[in-house]
Amino acid sequence: MQAVINVEGLVKRYGEITAVDGISFRGFRGEVFGFLGPNGAGKTTTVECLEGLRVPDAGKIEVLGEIPSPTNYALKARLGIQLQETAYLGLLTVEEMLFTFARLYPRHRDIRALLELVALTEKRKSYVKTLSGGQRQRLAVALALVNDPELLILDEPTAGLDPQARRALWDLILGLKDEGKTVLLTTHYMEEAEYLCDRVAILDHGRIIALGAPAELVRAHLKETALELELEDGIEGGLLEGLPGVRRVVKEESGTVVLYSDDTVGTFRALAELFTAGKLPLRDLTWRRPSLEDVYLLLTGRRIRE
Ligand code: ATP
Repeated sequence: MQAVINVEGLVKRYGEITAVDGISFRGFRGEVFGFLGPNGAGKTTTVECLEGLRVPDAGKIEVLGEIPSPTNYALKARLGIQLQETAYLGLLTVEEMLFTFARLYPRHRDIRALLELVALTEKRKSYVKTLSGGQRQRLAVALALVNDPELLILDEPTAGLDPQARRALWDLILGLKDEGKTVLLTTHYMEEAEYLCDRVAILDHGRIIALGAPAELVRAHLKETALELELEDGIEGGLLEGLPGVRRVVKEESGTVVLYSDDTVGTFRALAELFTAGKLPLRDLTWRRPSLEDVYLLLTGRRIRE
């Protein structure tokens, strides 16, 4: 597998704040690589360093064999970038905007085909300000694709979208992967990382705390079932830890308690007994297969979106 991104010991500070604290990873050609983490974890700073928009304080970065910098225009021509916020030229239509961007590059994709690809053909004569959130995000991806880049970098492409619009963008991104593009994206949506990414790096306080294929990460950290308990009041300390099958107990600040059990039936039975005896003030109980959310919860004691 050919590495198209090579990062070693990247550090980026803003005054006193260390936004990225010594991260290393590689991104391979043709994969969808995700940075997953809560707000402020350092995702945007990392991708902005890769794009050459920020200069690292320490570490080495290589993207498509080049060192990114604000003046490395040859590299920029090979990248497709969607920033978290795009300032649109308000007086242009969708089509005019794509043609304007296309002229900035030595080569570009066919604009009509691009409009088709992002399902904006019907909106091509509309002013950008009249587009819905999902249409705007699809336009942002189209603008990132206009120069037919080898590597596409998408910063929270589906933030704030409704489930249907998010799904449409997921399909678009998977289609690009089928075309052979390499995609690096950031997200704080667990399901998105699980659905889209071949590999994810989970970022917390500027550090990578886990890296791998989503299913492998879950398997490596958790073999148990997750039982999520919402309680009316607190309960006796240690009561849940001692139940049959329970391997780990995570108590969240919100009051939710998550039990990880390797004997689901045994744990359920014991919970039912406690409940019947009036010792478990249960409001809600959910039983699920562990996910990346659980990996994050186990490693940090927090959820990604709190
Ligand atoms: P979000 O999803 O909210 O964008 P993120 O994971 O992308 O979060 P960053 O935007 O990279 O995280 O921010 C990492 C840390 O650096 C945060 O503590 C943030 O407040 C800080 N930070 C980011 N940009 C700047 C800046 N221009 N000046 C000062 N501090 C900054």
